[in-house]
Amino acid sequence: MAARTRFEIEQEAQAFLSSLVESSDDSIIGESLGGIITTWNKGAEKLFGYTPEEIIGQPVRTLIPPDKYAEEEIIFARMRRGERSQHIETVRLTKDGRRLDVLLTVSPVRDKKGRLIGASKIIHDITDRKEVEKSLLAYAHALQRSNQELDDFAYIVSHDLKEPLRGLQSFSQFLLEDYADKLDDEGKRKLRTMVDLSKRLETLLDNLLYYSRLGRTEMAVLQTDLNDVIQDILGMLSISLKEKNVVVEIIQPLPTVQCDRVRIGEVFQNLITNAIKYCDKGCNRVQIGYVTDHPRAPGENVFYIRDQGIGINEKDMDAIFKIFKRLHPRDAYGGGTGSGLAICKKIITQHGGEIWAESLGEGKGATFFFTIPQQKSKPLTLPF
Ligand code: ADP
Repeated sequence: MAARTRFEIEQEAQAFLSSLVESSDDSIIGESLGGIITTWNKGAEKLFGYTPEEIIGQPVRTLIPPDKYAEEEIIFARMRRGERSQHIETVRLTKDGRRLDVLLTVSPVRDKKGRLIGASKIIHDITDRKEVEKSLLAYAHALQRSNQELDDFAYIVSHDLKEPLRGLQSFSQFLLEDYADKLDDEGKRKLRTMVDLSKRLETLLDNLLYYSRLGRTEMAVLQTDLNDVIQDILGMLSISLKEKNVVVEIIQPLPTVQCDRVRIGEVFQNLITNAIKYCDKGCNRVQIGYVTDHPRAPGENVFYIRDQGIGINEKDMDAIFKIFKRLHPRDAYGGGTGSGLAICKKIITQHGGEIWAESLGEGKGATFFFTIPQQKSKPLTLPF
């Protein structure tokens, strides 16, 4: 078979390219340096509704809504400088006047001698994607509003209930002090129980107030060295660590991350305190570290606090993160209100992360994991 000439090879390549352009679902159009449409594929016909006969020779502005003229000028100027504009989210107009959300890529086209002769434009319809994005956004806003309302409600209720409660507390205290000789032992015991219960109610209201306040105040997100955070907490907990003879082992240096230092410190503190607290005997080691290959969040830094304590039953793994949920009698394991883990969950959720617990079962220790997702850099777009 005779060797093909350079001309034949070029012609074949040309035919191949033309068929690619013609069969593409995306709309691919050519534009001259004067802003006139020069080529129009089937995808463009389907998307915009114009036949090639109707549109070729017309200004490219036919497809552009007036509010996007300024943007088009910038794209055009870039093209004239020989620069490409890639993946620009914008709007185009169809023949029947509908606005389409599209992704636009504009590449300069040169002739064989390298002279700029115009541009090719690939226009990808993203209307469906934008619709889904819009409804997701609306849903997220509604959810945010309803969470905000719940926080406001919890804040007002807990705040306003504190005042009558204080009245009850002081009056039962007066009764105990001023009327002690008029009450028998049973009466005094009942009154003391009343004082204790109202103190507990005050603590619960304080916790609820704090929990709702977390949702009402802005976070202060900064680069934070988690090693410093842990050192501060261990300093604060040093007495209780010594008393309980607990050794805290930092498995590896922790990274510096973008987070609200105070709130993330609170998460570590709650989890370390629980690790020390929920332990019967012989559990004197708490490990702190992070992994990057946890199946629940592969590739992310997953921080953990592991203890050798009483462990958690599989069926309670979700319940423990609910506010005021305790798995034990009120005063067992040093007592508590059951709000620490709910606060941790709220803080981690505010950071866009997840928190969960794992345990091999009762008596076999527990590990609490959480993530603090870091902002990924945004794709490059034109400055408009
Ligand atoms: P509190 O400690 O005040 O009860 P938390 O919200 O911190 O409140 O914890 C909720 C419940 O989860 C605890 O009452 C306990 O039953 C369980 N829990 C928390 N941490 C651990 C742990 N490290 N090991 C076993 N159980 C735990």
